Amino acid sequence: MNARIIDGNALATTVRSELAERTAALKARGVTPGLAVILVGDDAASAVYVRNKAAACEKIGMHSLKFVYAADTAPAVVFAKIAELNADPAVHGILVQLPLPKHFDSDAILDAIAVEKDVDGFHAENVGALVQGKPRFIPCTPYGVMKMLESIGTKIRGAEAVIVGRSNIVGKPMALLLLNQGATVTVCHSQTRDLAFHTRRADILVAAVGRPKMITGEMVKPGATIIDVGINRLPDGKLCGDVDFESVQKVGAAITPVPGGVGPMTITMLLANTLEAAERVVMEKIK
Ligand code: NDP
Repeated sequence: MNARIIDGNALATTVRSELAERTAALKARGVTPGLAVILVGDDAASAVYVRNKAAACEKIGMHSLKFVYAADTAPAVVFAKIAELNADPAVHGILVQLPLPKHFDSDAILDAIAVEKDVDGFHAENVGALVQGKPRFIPCTPYGVMKMLESIGTKIRGAEAVIVGRSNIVGKPMALLLLNQGATVTVCHSQTRDLAFHTRRADILVAAVGRPKMITGEMVKPGATIIDVGINRLPDGKLCGDVDFESVQKVGAAITPVPGGVGPMTITMLLANTLEAAERVVMEKIK
Protein backbone atom coordinates (compact mmCIF):
# COMPACT_ATOMS: atom_id res chain seq x y z
CA MET A 1 0.00 0.00 0.00
CA ASN A 2 1.25 3.49 -0.79
CA ALA A 3 2.16 5.90 2.01
CA ARG A 4 -0.36 8.46 3.20
CA ILE A 5 0.40 11.87 1.71
CA ILE A 6 0.70 14.70 4.23
CA ASP A 7 -0.92 17.61 2.40
CA GLY A 8 0.95 20.79 3.35
CA ASN A 9 -1.41 23.02 1.38
CA ALA A 10 -4.49 21.71 3.20
CA LEU A 11 -2.87 21.97 6.63
CA ALA A 12 -1.58 25.47 5.83
CA THR A 13 -5.11 26.57 4.87
CA THR A 14 -6.50 25.29 8.18
CA VAL A 15 -3.76 26.88 10.29
CA ARG A 16 -3.94 30.18 8.38
CA SER A 17 -7.68 30.48 8.96
CA GLU A 18 -7.07 30.10 12.72
CA LEU A 19 -4.34 32.74 12.47
CA ALA A 20 -6.70 35.07 10.57
CA GLU A 21 -9.23 34.78 13.43
CA ARG A 22 -6.57 35.58 16.04
CA THR A 23 -5.36 38.50 13.89
CA ALA A 24 -8.91 39.89 13.72
CA ALA A 25 -9.21 39.59 17.51
CA LEU A 26 -5.99 41.55 17.95
CA LYS A 27 -7.10 44.21 15.48
CA ALA A 28 -10.28 44.62 17.49
CA ARG A 29 -7.98 45.62 20.36
CA GLY A 30 -6.35 48.21 18.10
CA VAL A 31 -3.19 46.25 17.21
CA THR A 32 -2.44 45.10 13.67
CA PRO A 33 0.39 42.53 13.60
CA GLY A 34 3.17 43.85 11.36
CA LEU A 35 6.02 42.03 9.61
CA ALA A 36 8.98 43.87 8.05
CA VAL A 37 11.04 42.00 5.47
CA ILE A 38 14.47 43.15 4.30
CA LEU A 39 15.88 41.92 1.01
CA VAL A 40 19.40 42.76 -0.15
CA GLY A 41 20.48 41.91 -3.70
CA ASP A 42 18.72 40.63 -6.79
CA ASP A 43 18.51 36.88 -6.21
CA ALA A 44 15.39 35.83 -8.14
CA ALA A 45 14.35 33.05 -5.74
CA SER A 46 14.73 35.35 -2.71
CA ALA A 47 12.58 38.00 -4.42
CA VAL A 48 9.82 35.42 -4.94
CA TYR A 49 10.03 34.24 -1.30
CA VAL A 50 9.80 37.84 -0.05
CA ARG A 51 6.82 38.57 -2.30
CA ASN A 52 5.04 35.41 -1.12
CA LYS A 53 5.66 36.23 2.55
CA ALA A 54 4.26 39.75 2.14
CA ALA A 55 1.21 38.46 0.24
CA ALA A 56 0.55 35.78 2.89
CA CYS A 57 0.62 38.47 5.61
CA GLU A 58 -1.85 40.71 3.82
CA LYS A 59 -4.17 37.79 3.12
CA ILE A 60 -4.75 37.04 6.79
CA GLY A 61 -5.10 40.71 7.71
CA MET A 62 -1.56 41.48 8.87
CA HIS A 63 0.44 44.51 7.90
CA SER A 64 3.61 43.97 5.86
CA LEU A 65 6.53 46.22 5.00
CA LYS A 66 9.22 45.43 2.45
CA PHE A 67 12.65 47.06 2.16
CA VAL A 68 14.71 46.18 -0.90
CA TYR A 69 18.37 47.16 -1.27
CA ALA A 70 20.85 46.79 -4.14
CA ALA A 71 23.48 44.04 -3.79
CA ASP A 72 26.29 46.59 -3.25
CA THR A 73 24.54 48.33 -0.33
CA ALA A 74 26.80 49.06 2.65
CA PRO A 75 25.98 46.86 5.69
CA ALA A 76 25.67 50.07 7.79
CA VAL A 77 22.55 51.00 5.81
CA VAL A 78 20.89 47.69 6.70
CA PHE A 79 21.99 47.90 10.35
CA ALA A 80 20.41 51.38 10.50
CA LYS A 81 17.14 50.08 9.03
CA ILE A 82 17.06 47.20 11.53
CA ALA A 83 17.62 49.65 14.41
CA GLU A 84 14.74 51.80 13.12
CA LEU A 85 12.42 48.76 12.83
CA ASN A 86 13.47 47.50 16.29
CA ALA A 87 12.16 50.79 17.69
CA ASP A 88 8.96 50.89 15.61
CA PRO A 89 5.93 49.78 17.67
CA ALA A 90 3.93 49.00 14.49
CA VAL A 91 6.49 46.31 13.57
CA HIS A 92 6.24 43.05 15.54
CA GLY A 93 8.40 40.83 13.37
CA ILE A 94 11.59 41.52 11.39
CA LEU A 95 13.01 39.12 8.84
CA VAL A 96 16.19 39.50 6.80
CA GLN A 97 16.01 37.27 3.74
CA LEU A 98 19.04 34.98 3.44
CA PRO A 99 21.48 34.57 1.82
CA LEU A 100 22.97 38.05 2.09
CA PRO A 101 25.69 39.29 -0.30
CA LYS A 102 29.20 38.11 0.61
CA HIS A 103 30.35 41.45 2.09
CA PHE A 104 27.74 41.08 4.86
CA ASP A 105 28.38 39.32 8.17
CA SER A 106 25.07 37.42 8.28
CA ASP A 107 25.37 36.46 11.95
CA ALA A 108 25.96 40.08 12.94
CA ILE A 109 22.92 41.18 10.93
CA LEU A 110 20.70 38.49 12.49
CA ASP A 111 21.94 39.37 15.97
CA ALA A 112 21.06 43.05 15.37
CA ILE A 113 17.35 42.16 15.23
CA ALA A 114 15.58 42.68 18.58
CA VAL A 115 15.12 39.22 20.15
CA GLU A 116 11.40 39.82 20.69
CA LYS A 117 10.95 40.62 16.95
CA ASP A 118 13.19 37.82 15.61
CA VAL A 119 10.36 35.82 14.01
CA ASP A 120 12.78 33.58 12.07
CA GLY A 121 14.32 32.52 15.40
CA PHE A 122 17.89 32.89 14.09
CA HIS A 123 19.22 35.38 16.71
CA ALA A 124 21.91 33.68 18.84
CA GLU A 125 19.87 34.29 22.00
CA ASN A 126 16.79 32.66 20.47
CA VAL A 127 18.88 29.72 19.25
CA GLY A 128 20.13 29.35 22.83
CA ALA A 129 16.56 29.38 24.17
CA LEU A 130 15.67 26.60 21.71
CA VAL A 131 18.69 24.56 22.83
CA GLN A 132 17.49 24.94 26.43
CA GLY A 133 14.05 23.65 25.41
CA LYS A 134 12.40 27.02 26.12
CA PRO A 135 12.03 28.53 22.64
CA ARG A 136 10.82 32.10 22.20
CA PHE A 137 10.47 31.67 18.42
CA ILE A 138 10.83 28.35 16.63
CA PRO A 139 12.51 28.58 13.19
CA CYS A 140 9.70 28.42 10.64
CA THR A 141 10.60 25.37 8.53
CA PRO A 142 11.19 22.92 11.42
CA TYR A 143 8.18 24.44 13.21
CA GLY A 144 6.07 23.63 10.14
CA VAL A 145 7.44 20.08 10.09
CA MET A 146 6.46 19.59 13.75
CA LYS A 147 2.92 20.77 12.93
CA MET A 148 2.77 18.29 10.05
CA LEU A 149 3.88 15.42 12.32
CA GLU A 150 1.33 16.51 14.92
CA SER A 151 -1.43 16.66 12.29
CA ILE A 152 -1.09 12.94 11.55
CA GLY A 153 -0.55 11.93 15.17
CA THR A 154 3.06 10.80 14.76
CA LYS A 155 4.48 9.35 17.97
CA ILE A 156 7.68 11.28 18.64
CA ARG A 157 8.60 10.19 22.17
CA GLY A 158 10.94 7.21 21.92
CA ALA A 159 11.00 7.31 18.09
CA GLU A 160 14.23 7.01 16.12
CA ALA A 161 14.48 10.29 14.19
CA VAL A 162 17.09 10.77 11.50
CA ILE A 163 17.74 14.15 9.93
CA VAL A 164 19.82 14.46 6.81
CA GLY A 165 21.34 17.97 6.75
CA ARG A 166 22.77 20.08 9.58
CA SER A 167 22.16 23.68 8.52
CA ASN A 168 21.36 26.35 11.09
CA ILE A 169 18.01 27.09 9.46
CA VAL A 170 16.67 23.54 9.04
CA GLY A 171 18.73 20.54 10.17
CA LYS A 172 19.98 21.71 13.58
CA PRO A 173 16.74 23.29 14.87
CA MET A 174 14.82 20.26 13.53
CA ALA A 175 17.08 17.98 15.57
CA LEU A 176 16.54 20.07 18.70
CA LEU A 177 12.76 20.12 18.36
CA LEU A 178 12.57 16.34 17.94
CA LEU A 179 15.05 15.83 20.77
CA ASN A 180 13.08 18.15 23.06
CA GLN A 181 9.99 16.03 22.37
CA GLY A 182 11.72 12.79 23.32
CA ALA A 183 12.94 11.32 20.03
CA THR A 184 16.35 9.65 19.77
CA VAL A 185 17.96 11.86 17.15
CA THR A 186 20.71 11.21 14.61
CA VAL A 187 21.92 14.04 12.38
CA CYS A 188 23.62 13.07 9.11
CA HIS A 189 25.59 15.35 6.78
CA SER A 190 28.07 15.33 3.92
CA GLN A 191 30.74 13.60 6.04
CA THR A 192 28.46 10.78 7.24
CA ARG A 193 30.08 7.47 6.27
CA ASP A 194 27.12 5.18 5.59
CA LEU A 195 24.02 7.32 5.12
CA ALA A 196 21.67 4.42 4.32
CA PHE A 197 22.69 2.61 7.54
CA HIS A 198 21.26 5.55 9.48
CA THR A 199 18.21 6.34 7.32
CA ARG A 200 17.07 2.69 7.41
CA ARG A 201 16.73 2.91 11.20
CA ALA A 202 14.49 5.98 11.12
CA ASP A 203 10.88 5.95 12.27
CA ILE A 204 10.88 9.64 11.32
CA LEU A 205 13.18 10.66 8.45
CA VAL A 206 13.68 14.32 7.57
CA ALA A 207 15.62 15.16 4.40
CA ALA A 208 17.02 18.72 4.22
CA VAL A 209 19.94 18.56 1.83
CA GLY A 210 19.22 20.16 -1.55
CA ARG A 211 20.04 17.12 -3.70
CA PRO A 212 17.23 15.91 -5.98
CA LYS A 213 15.74 12.50 -5.10
CA MET A 214 18.77 11.36 -3.07
CA ILE A 215 16.68 9.36 -0.56
CA THR A 216 15.42 6.25 -2.32
CA GLY A 217 13.03 3.47 -1.28
CA GLU A 218 15.79 1.05 -0.23
CA MET A 219 17.11 3.68 2.23
CA VAL A 220 13.82 3.81 4.13
CA LYS A 221 12.41 1.62 6.90
CA PRO A 222 8.99 0.13 6.12
CA GLY A 223 6.32 2.13 7.93
CA ALA A 224 8.47 5.25 8.41
CA THR A 225 7.22 8.83 8.21
CA ILE A 226 9.23 10.78 5.64
CA ILE A 227 9.44 14.57 5.59
CA ASP A 228 10.99 16.08 2.47
CA VAL A 229 12.22 19.62 3.10
CA GLY A 230 14.33 19.84 -0.08
CA ILE A 231 13.34 22.08 -2.95
CA ASN A 232 15.27 21.43 -6.14
CA ARG A 233 14.65 22.57 -9.69
CA LEU A 234 15.16 19.89 -12.34
CA PRO A 235 16.54 20.70 -15.82
CA ASP A 236 12.97 20.51 -17.22
CA GLY A 237 11.95 23.33 -14.82
CA LYS A 238 9.89 21.10 -12.51
CA LEU A 239 10.38 21.15 -8.73
CA CYS A 240 11.33 18.06 -6.78
CA GLY A 241 12.44 17.24 -3.26
CA ASP A 242 15.41 15.38 -1.79
CA VAL A 243 13.26 12.25 -1.62
CA ASP A 244 12.55 9.98 -4.57
CA PHE A 245 8.80 10.14 -4.05
CA GLU A 246 7.94 7.21 -6.36
CA SER A 247 10.08 4.59 -4.62
CA VAL A 248 9.78 5.92 -1.05
CA GLN A 249 5.99 6.18 -1.22
CA LYS A 250 5.87 2.39 -1.63
CA VAL A 251 7.79 1.80 1.62
CA GLY A 252 6.85 4.54 4.09
CA ALA A 253 3.60 5.01 6.04
CA ALA A 254 3.39 8.78 5.46
CA ILE A 255 5.24 11.20 3.19
CA THR A 256 5.23 14.90 2.30
CA PRO A 257 5.13 15.83 -1.40
CA VAL A 258 7.19 18.52 -3.15
CA PRO A 259 5.71 20.92 -4.03
CA GLY A 260 2.76 21.19 -1.65
CA GLY A 261 4.44 19.76 1.46
CA VAL A 262 6.73 21.60 3.84
CA GLY A 263 6.94 24.79 1.71
CA PRO A 264 3.43 26.14 2.45
CA MET A 265 3.87 25.35 6.15
CA THR A 266 7.11 27.36 6.37
CA ILE A 267 5.37 30.63 5.45
CA THR A 268 2.42 29.70 7.67
CA MET A 269 4.66 29.40 10.71
CA LEU A 270 6.28 32.75 9.90
CA LEU A 271 2.78 34.24 10.15
CA ALA A 272 2.23 32.34 13.40
CA ASN A 273 5.46 33.70 14.90
CA THR A 274 4.62 37.27 13.84
CA LEU A 275 1.15 37.03 15.34
CA GLU A 276 2.58 35.59 18.54
CA ALA A 277 5.07 38.46 18.78
CA ALA A 278 2.18 40.94 18.48
CA GLU A 279 0.06 39.03 21.01
CA ARG A 280 2.94 39.15 23.51
CA VAL A 281 3.12 42.96 23.15
CA VAL A 282 -0.60 43.22 23.94
CA MET A 283 -0.27 40.85 26.92
CA GLU A 284 2.64 42.90 28.27
CA LYS A 285 0.48 46.06 28.11
CA ILE A 286 -2.31 44.35 30.07
CA LYS A 287 0.06 43.18 32.83
P1 NDP B 1 22.30 23.82 3.27
O1 NDP B 1 22.99 23.78 1.95
O2 NDP B 1 22.58 24.91 4.22
O3 NDP B 1 22.59 22.44 4.04
C1 NDP B 1 22.56 21.23 3.36
C2 NDP B 1 22.98 20.14 4.30
O4 NDP B 1 23.01 18.89 3.57
C3 NDP B 1 24.39 20.31 4.88
O5 NDP B 1 24.37 20.05 6.26
C4 NDP B 1 25.22 19.29 4.13
O6 NDP B 1 26.28 18.74 4.91
C5 NDP B 1 24.22 18.20 3.85
N1 NDP B 1 24.61 17.38 2.72
C6 NDP B 1 25.08 17.79 1.52
N2 NDP B 1 25.36 16.72 0.75
C7 NDP B 1 25.05 15.62 1.47
C8 NDP B 1 25.13 14.24 1.22
N3 NDP B 1 25.58 13.75 0.08
N4 NDP B 1 24.76 13.39 2.19
C9 NDP B 1 24.30 13.85 3.38
N5 NDP B 1 24.21 15.17 3.67
C10 NDP B 1 24.59 16.03 2.73
O7 NDP B 1 20.75 23.74 2.94
P2 NDP B 1 19.45 24.17 3.78
O8 NDP B 1 19.39 23.41 5.06
O9 NDP B 1 19.31 25.63 3.79
O10 NDP B 1 18.30 23.61 2.81
C11 NDP B 1 18.21 22.24 2.49
C12 NDP B 1 17.15 22.06 1.42
O11 NDP B 1 15.90 22.48 1.95
C13 NDP B 1 17.36 22.90 0.15
O12 NDP B 1 16.86 22.16 -0.94
C14 NDP B 1 16.49 24.11 0.39
O13 NDP B 1 16.06 24.71 -0.82
C15 NDP B 1 15.34 23.49 1.12
N6 NDP B 1 14.60 24.40 1.99
C16 NDP B 1 13.25 24.31 1.95
C17 NDP B 1 12.47 25.08 2.76
C18 NDP B 1 11.01 24.91 2.71
O14 NDP B 1 10.28 25.77 3.16
N7 NDP B 1 10.49 23.78 2.18
C19 NDP B 1 13.05 26.08 3.67
C20 NDP B 1 14.50 26.03 3.71
C21 NDP B 1 15.24 25.23 2.88
P3 NDP B 1 27.54 19.63 5.41
O15 NDP B 1 27.02 20.45 6.55
O16 NDP B 1 28.52 18.59 5.85
O17 NDP B 1 27.98 20.44 4.24
